[in-house]
Amino acid sequence: MKRILQDLSQNELEALILSLGEKKFRAGQIFLGLMQGKRISELNIPPLLRETLLKSYEDEPVRIAETLVSREDGTKKYLFRLSDGNLIEGVLMHYKYGNTQCVSTQVGCRMGCKFCASTLGGRVRDLTAGEILCEILAVNRSEGGTLKARAVTNVVLMGSGEPFDNYENVVKFLRNLTAEEGLNMSARNISLSTCGLVPEMKKFISEGIPLNLTVSLHAVTDAERARTMPIAKKYTISEILGACSDYFEKTGRRYIFEYTLISGENSDTAHALALAKLLKGRPCHVNLIRLNAVKERNLLAAEEQEARKFLETLEAQGISATLRRSMGSDIGGACGQLRARYMEQGADDIE
Ligand code: SAH
Repeated sequence: MKRILQDLSQNELEALILSLGEKKFRAGQIFLGLMQGKRISELNIPPLLRETLLKSYEDEPVRIAETLVSREDGTKKYLFRLSDGNLIEGVLMHYKYGNTQCVSTQVGCRMGCKFCASTLGGRVRDLTAGEILCEILAVNRSEGGTLKARAVTNVVLMGSGEPFDNYENVVKFLRNLTAEEGLNMSARNISLSTCGLVPEMKKFISEGIPLNLTVSLHAVTDAERARTMPIAKKYTISEILGACSDYFEKTGRRYIFEYTLISGENSDTAHALALAKLLKGRPCHVNLIRLNAVKERNLLAAEEQEARKFLETLEAQGISATLRRSMGSDIGGACGQLRARYMEQGADDIE
C-alpha cells in the first residue's frame, strides 16, 4: 500500500518537499490543496512533482462510494472506500448550530459490545491519521465547504472503532484537525467517545487537547456492564469515573456519558435511580439514546415512554441529561450498520 500524504502535518510536508529538492512554498500550496479535499492528481503543481508524489502516495485515500440521505431528517450516511478496498462509514447530521460529522477510527472493532454492529466482524485494521482526516475532507468538499467556510463544523469520534485502541493515529489526527494552518477546528467542537480504556484515558489528559470526553457507560454495575460490554471485565466503572475526574481537574471540561437504553437490560426506573446515585455531584452530562436495534443481535430498544421516564427520573435527581433523537434510523444510522449490510451483499457491487 502506498503512503498517505494527508498523514503529514504542514511541517512534515515541508520537510518532505524540501527533501525532494523543491522550494518550500510548494509545500504550502500542496497542503492548502489537500485541506480543500483535492486529490494529488488535481493539485496545480509541476507535473514532475505530481508524478513523484503519486509514485509513493495514494491519490485519493478515502473516496465516497455511496451517500444515503435520510428522508426523516436529512442526515447523510456515507460509505467510504479506502485505497486497499476496505469500507468504512460516516454520518453527517444537521443541527441548528451546525453540521456534525461522525467519523470512524478503525475498520471494524474488536471491543465486542453486544449491541453494536461495528464489532460483528472484529477489527480489520486501524485507520491512519490521514485516513480519518480524509473522511472529513471528502465530506466537507462534497457539501460545498471550503477551508475557511467549513460545511463540517463539529466532529465526533463515534463511528466504527475504538479511538483509544488506535491511540497514536487518533492523537495525530486530532493535532492535524485542530492545527491552525489546516482545518483549524476548535477542540471544543470535537467529541471523542471511548468504551472506557482507562490507561489511554489517563494518557490522553497529558496531550493537552481539551475536547469533549465521552464514555460509553450503558450500565450501573460492573457485572451488568460485562453482560453487554466485554471491556467491563478489564476496567471497572470506578476506575473509569476516576479517570473522568482527572480529566475534569486538568481541563475544566465536564465529561459526558452515553447510555443506550435496552429493553429489559438497563432501562427501568431502578436503573435510572442507580445511575443518578452513581453520578450525583459529578460535573457530567448523560446522553440517553434508545438502542438502534441491530438485526444480528437479539436486543430490543426500550420503549419511547420508558426512555422518557428514565430521563425524567435522572432530571428529578438533579442529573443533567438529554434523550437524543435517533437520527437517520431509516438509513442504518447506527455504528457499522451500513458497512455490515454491504459486506453481506458483497462489497464489489459498489463503486
Ligand atoms: N468505541 C467507542 C466509539 C464508537 S461507538 C465507544 O464505545 O464509545 C459510539 C457510540 O454508539 C457508543 O456510545 C456506542 O455504545 C453507541 N452505539 C453503538 N451501537 C449502537 C446501537 N446499535 N444503538 C445505539 N447506540 C449504539
